[in-house]
Amino acid sequence: MRMQFLGAAETTSGACYLIRAGDRQVLVDCGLFHGSEELKQRNYGDFPFEPSSIDAVILTHAHIDHSGLLPKLVKHGFKGPIYATAVTCDLCSIMLADSGHIQESEVERKNRKRIRRGQDPLTPIYTVDDADKAMKQFKRMVYDEEVEILPSIRVRFRDAGHILGAAIVELWVMEKGETTKLVFSGDLGNLDQPIVRDPTFITEADILVIESTYGTRTHENREDRTEHLAHVVNATMKRGGNLLIPAFALGRTQDVLYSLRVLQDKGAIPPLNIYIDSPLATKATAVFQEHARVFDYETRTMIKEGRSPFEAPHVHYTESVEESMRLNSVAGGLVIISASGMADAGRIKHHLKHNLWRRQATVLLVGYQAQGTLGRRLQDGADEVRIHGEMVKVAATIETISGFSAHADQGALLNWLRRFRYIGRVFVTHGEKESCHGFAELIRSELKVPTVVPKLDESFDLQGAETLSTWDSEYQDFHVAEDFSGVLQVAKGAETRFRGAYGLSQRRYKVENHFFTLFNMGSARHFFAQLALARLVEQGKLDQSKLGAPSAKPLWEEKLRELVPSETPWDVVAREVFEPAALRQSSYYYLDHAPAAAATGYTTTRQGQTVENVYAILEEGLKPQLFSTAHDLKRLWNVLAQGEFLKPEKVMELVAPYQEGSMAGFYTIEGKAPGVHVIFGGRLEEPRSIIVLSNGEVAVRAVFDQLLSYEGKGW
Ligand SMILES: [Zn+2]
Ligand SMILES: [Zn+2]
Repeated sequence: MRMQFLGAAETTSGACYLIRAGDRQVLVDCGLFHGSEELKQRNYGDFPFEPSSIDAVILTHAHIDHSGLLPKLVKHGFKGPIYATAVTCDLCSIMLADSGHIQESEVERKNRKRIRRGQDPLTPIYTVDDADKAMKQFKRMVYDEEVEILPSIRVRFRDAGHILGAAIVELWVMEKGETTKLVFSGDLGNLDQPIVRDPTFITEADILVIESTYGTRTHENREDRTEHLAHVVNATMKRGGNLLIPAFALGRTQDVLYSLRVLQDKGAIPPLNIYIDSPLATKATAVFQEHARVFDYETRTMIKEGRSPFEAPHVHYTESVEESMRLNSVAGGLVIISASGMADAGRIKHHLKHNLWRRQATVLLVGYQAQGTLGRRLQDGADEVRIHGEMVKVAATIETISGFSAHADQGALLNWLRRFRYIGRVFVTHGEKESCHGFAELIRSELKVPTVVPKLDESFDLQGAETLSTWDSEYQDFHVAEDFSGVLQVAKGAETRFRGAYGLSQRRYKVENHFFTLFNMGSARHFFAQLALARLVEQGKLDQSKLGAPSAKPLWEEKLRELVPSETPWDVVAREVFEPAALRQSSYYYLDHAPAAAATGYTTTRQGQTVENVYAILEEGLKPQLFSTAHDLKRLWNVLAQGEFLKPEKVMELVAPYQEGSMAGFYTIEGKAPGVHVIFGGRLEEPRSIIVLSNGEVAVRAVFDQLLSYEGKGW
């Protein structure tokens, strides 16, 4: 059995774990990435596996960082069932549609700009329609019931106490007569969280995958949290202002409602007019009410006694935009709970615009505020902020309550782990880098269990008690020269088997190379021109005989310019190669106008000085350079191997001169320029690729040769 970590590895989003056992393939979660540009890019590219080859998906809960790419998975050919608890199914039907709506409007906004600039319009990752289609594949599960979902694969959902419907997944995989039990914590809840139950304790796992969002931190406790909330409410009402609470529609909004109800019943705060001003929160609350039987004991008791936190004469759900706008004219006495939780989108922005400048008002932040959001700027004490293009003075009081988290903190995670009687091995995921590694260290020292922090895309063989990273086993002797600067990647079809990023992409700004860094292809751009020419011949737009006799290294770009004089070679390559092969990250740029993600090339002068590759401009004249990424080159190789882009005979004829030394069937394309050295290629009969891209001139061939020496061993 093999498990690959395709998301939530040294980060908190994009949860996605691929399990292969025999000929069966199962995904646990398929979440959307957020955060850095590099991570968000992963939402757009191809999946690193063939969606139609996945047999089933097991979904832990409805949060978008776990469920958000399911509509894309279905859109790209996944036909199997998606197993989730009934509440998760119902929550997903509103969450995914909402996410589809966000994707559509984001692309619409970007396209308005692109069209003005003469660029091609983008298509959204998925639409509301795609989200609705995906819902048809959901299969409702109940907690605690063991179900055989595939021959020799059984699954059981246990309450994770995180948000309503969230599950810990127990998975039994039978292979060659041996059963391995995998446990996925999913997102694990906080103890004594409102509405949801406490996380279920599990006692055995051969393999445990555990989240670590708060692996190194401790929350404010429940008493402090409610007391703090009472104080904020009373102080605001005394001043005669409004209390604005930006809150996530799913989970946090309901938690706040619950706490307000408890405080009101105790008489700790006066009766209040509470407005839920978020259509998504209103829908999510309705789903909550339909599933009251999975609430915790306290909440069920409150409802039985007629004290539902969601339905009270003083709780109002606004529907229309007009109703929402009417709240803007009220100067004080209201509690407004509205999305988004970080105040960077949604109706909360209107309320902030109308209240921030009032000294009587309070803004209460109850969730994590990411860097760069409006919520974070307020939290950091900004004097004025820009909202909808207008500067607004901040006179209101800004308060933060940290104890509302839906995640277990370090103590709670450790407490949950200590209830296990047996754990074979632990993988720590779903946390920022420091959190994953800090928590892994704690597990090693406290529980004395082998613990690994997997890297993004890393895969592991899970045979019996042994858990070897395939990277560790196949590439354990791999060594990169210290002054190598660039990216390397080994892939089998779409599956990345090994990769690494080294050195700086821009020394001046200390920007590190990463997997989405754009690298100048140097003279390898001629290969792209050659592909474009072959496509034109295949379409009958060009006569084969015009290409001339094949020579060792013809300057195909010049040939393309000569044979298609009406267009620039880069326009032809964009249309004939980038477009049909779906190389979305590749483009031509002038060196002095390259985007921030493009690596600057570094070359060594005769005097031994390292300088930026301005020489390339002098040498080449003012000509745009072709930039691409490891991801795109892997894709190009697979597209060539599949024979859809060019006929297979044509591809073989084309790559024949690029055979690697005496290795039959292995082809490499090499590109150079000052401060540029790239080598990529592989086999075509069974698509395998090795890609080494550098923005320097050191050790590139040595790195490539080393990777080549593993060829045939692992794959
Ligand atoms: Zn979650
Ligand atoms: Zn999560």
